[in-house]
Amino acid sequence: MTTSGSKLGGGQCPFCDVAGHIIDENDFANVIFSNPRLTEYHLLIIPKRHVEKPWELTKNERQAIFDLILKWQKFIIDHIATGCDVRENYRPFLPQSKTKVDHLHYHLLPREFRDELFAKSQIYEAEIFREVKREELDPRHLL
Ligand SMILES: [Zn+2]
Repeated sequence: MTTSGSKLGGGQCPFCDVAGHIIDENDFANVIFSNPRLTEYHLLIIPKRHVEKPWELTKNERQAIFDLILKWQKFIIDHIATGCDVRENYRPFLPQSKTKVDHLHYHLLPREFRDELFAKSQIYEAEIFREVKREELDPRHLL
């Protein structure tokens, strides 16, 4: 049994069939609006192939996704908002839902100073930040 969700293909996975929602694409990835969204013009960059783990992307897919991330991040900065977050959330411990899709995707979130996302969520991150302990900086404990 896997904790990373089922290997859904076209027809069952909402991101395997995004026809009619594509605002940009290249050979290996699509760009669509996130629905639901966290901020206005919240975009998703999605590989065309059903992939669930980022490290399973081919080199071509990685290049294609990163090209679209940078293209649309620049578009957001030029036309939509002052700032832009880029996110990928690998959370196999959550079941697939309307706000959690197993098919790998990258979020572009237009951001403004003290916007709603900050006021209702990220403002609390300041309480979580800690100084790193000296032993945490030694990479040998990971190996
Ligand atoms: Zn899919």
